[in-house]
Amino acid sequence: MAQSLLHKQKASSQYGDLLKSIRKCVPLKISVEEKINLILRKIIKELGVDVCSCYLIRPGDVLELYATIGLNPKAVHETFLRLGEGLIGEIALKQKPQAFENALEHASFSYKPETDEQQFKSLAGAPIFYENVLLGVISIQTKQPFVYPPELLNVLQIIALVMADILYSSVASSAEKKISTGHQHKKIEATRLIPGIALGNAYIHRRAVLNTVLADDVHKEIKKLDAALKTAEDEINHLIMKPDTKSEQSDILETYLMFVHDKGWLQQMKQEIENGLTAEAAVLKVCSDLVRRMELTKDAYIKERIHDFRDLTSRIIRLLHGKQLISTKKLSRNAILIAESLGPAELLDYDLSRIKGIVLEEGSQTMHVVIVARSYNIPVLSGIKDISALVLNNDVLALDADRGFLYINPADEVLDEFESRLKEQKRLQSRLTQMGSLPAVTQDGFVVSLNINAGLETDLMNVRGITYDGIGLFRTELPFMSSEKLPDVEAQTAIYRRVLGEMKEKPVVFRSLDIGSDKILPYFENRNEKNPAMGWRSIRVTLDRRAILRKQLRAFIHACAGKTLWVMFPMISTVAEFTEARKTLELELQHERERNQVMPKEIKVGTMLEVPSLLFQLEELVKYVDFVSVGTNDLTQFLFATDRSNPIIWSRYDTLSPPFLRMMQFVQQTCEKAGVECSVCGEMASHPLEVVALIGLGFKKLSMNPAALGRIKAVVRSMNQEKVHEFLSRYLSDTTASLRSLLQAYVNDHDIFV
Ligand code: PEP
Ligand code: MG
Repeated sequence: MAQSLLHKQKASSQYGDLLKSIRKCVPLKISVEEKINLILRKIIKELGVDVCSCYLIRPGDVLELYATIGLNPKAVHETFLRLGEGLIGEIALKQKPQAFENALEHASFSYKPETDEQQFKSLAGAPIFYENVLLGVISIQTKQPFVYPPELLNVLQIIALVMADILYSSVASSAEKKISTGHQHKKIEATRLIPGIALGNAYIHRRAVLNTVLADDVHKEIKKLDAALKTAEDEINHLIMKPDTKSEQSDILETYLMFVHDKGWLQQMKQEIENGLTAEAAVLKVCSDLVRRMELTKDAYIKERIHDFRDLTSRIIRLLHGKQLISTKKLSRNAILIAESLGPAELLDYDLSRIKGIVLEEGSQTMHVVIVARSYNIPVLSGIKDISALVLNNDVLALDADRGFLYINPADEVLDEFESRLKEQKRLQSRLTQMGSLPAVTQDGFVVSLNINAGLETDLMNVRGITYDGIGLFRTELPFMSSEKLPDVEAQTAIYRRVLGEMKEKPVVFRSLDIGSDKILPYFENRNEKNPAMGWRSIRVTLDRRAILRKQLRAFIHACAGKTLWVMFPMISTVAEFTEARKTLELELQHERERNQVMPKEIKVGTMLEVPSLLFQLEELVKYVDFVSVGTNDLTQFLFATDRSNPIIWSRYDTLSPPFLRMMQFVQQTCEKAGVECSVCGEMASHPLEVVALIGLGFKKLSMNPAALGRIKAVVRSMNQEKVHEFLSRYLSDTTASLRSLLQAYVNDHDIFV
């Protein structure tokens, strides 16, 4: 039996008859199960194998034997394998086709007696994917041991594509049926990515789906593919050139063009067309293979680029269908976009004035689409599994990205609450706009310097007419993250100069590269550490790769010629580490002086305080630094031993608790005594109630999320520093878990605007 395979087949294109006869099954008006059985029978007949089976994935990551020709039919719907169990489970888990000459002898073989499969020696299988959702596995077996040629595995993959098409439509329609029966209220917990609230109608962003899988006319399909790629390129160029596209968005879109021009990628797609696939199926197959490989990597950055890649795939398939961009007619004026995954270009295709919120099945702060959404101030939630199956188009949604909830068809009380919060937000916004150029001074004359945290050009636009004193933290890693390679000195200088230019004479504190942990550079070594937040990151990387630090410092010096240069080093753990970093700066300054460069007129060198060990060297540290800036995000995570990226644990301890506030008071007082400027640049400085406490403790400089600026100015102007100081002092030795409710009551009683 197995011999005939070897003799008959040499190249995948020679499996054409089988593919043709399978294609004839697709439009038949019979049930899905009958169709699958028919295909299995055809495979047995044409390939001359002894068994052909189809397993489908069921809830709980279990594979069910859905259909078989050759195994005991009684095992159908009765045999189950866990993902990773046995060879079929392994094919599903590893998400790639595999062949075993003698499966019975393989260490991973899992014997299911009800199938009678002990008589079959060889086994080959391919995962069935629709887009990137695993639907199941198709397998073939022979009685004799058999070495499967690679072309046969490729054909099995193509058959899996056809089966995916048949199976997906049935899975999708049963899912629709399941959800369309209920319009009940639902409240779902989600991860907050961009704060804000929104009320609107769901619009489910669906990726283009396949119309046809197999084709005869290779020439015609290749022409279609070339034309679609050309149009995709034109569309992306158009997005790049749009006047309101910011430079970092253009950088992201430029990487799409690289894919469109990639010869290897194109070659693979053409090869698949020659194997009998339509242009659209070839695009999907090649892209799915690549995405699966990307998914297997541990590199967080590469994983996040998967969304961009799917975005591009879907765009090309849509073009192959001859469809235009999403029509605004379909979008309500208040649309909340629901997507399993979404790329930045797909988001930019929508009329963004109508998009009031976004819900993603999975997402993170560094995903490109999130970066784009942030620049348009669109609130984003993520982390809701199967979101597109839970919601119907036009369902009413209330999105709360401040607290981390999504309400589906909310009850009237929730709707009322959202409406009044939205009204309040509008009122607040107009009140905040009035803050405009008023000074940030408390009722009793305590002057506070308000600064913003920035990293992208778009951050400067979120300030909305509220005056502020400068950039207290410029996160230089963000331009590095949206670049293709380490930017050279000239490219960096240009970025820093542009920022300084925008800021006119206001100070900009440049933080040296803070990469590692969740900020991964695609082109830089990734050590795949078990605990990256406490690993090789930030100053540890740049001290070890000194050339990167030196080049960055050189760019700072060039950009600040004739101006004051503010440099800040992140994640400093000891005084020695700071002095080492400072020495590197001195070296660069020396280097530039010797080359007669125009030098900065003044230089201020400081450190972030993010690692608790530094608290115990603070009295020594202040002798070496010009300023200290407290990074409360990292400091909280290390002080309380709570992972800042883990929402379950993050809210367990409070920065408004006696130990944290006492620590902050110690920092403020130690710096003040030494005459060293001390600011707070972590998220704590963006939260109104926390800011009341910080100012009460004596902090005179804050650097915050630009969106919080107006609100924080209103807080400062409505409080009395001295009185809050007295109030807090009474409770700093308390043993309660948090002073939050006490402070909230105080603020309410004293009309402080939080
Ligand atoms: C911090 O840790 O508080 C901080 C401002 O740095 P980042 O959030 O960039 O790690
Ligand atoms: Mg930090």
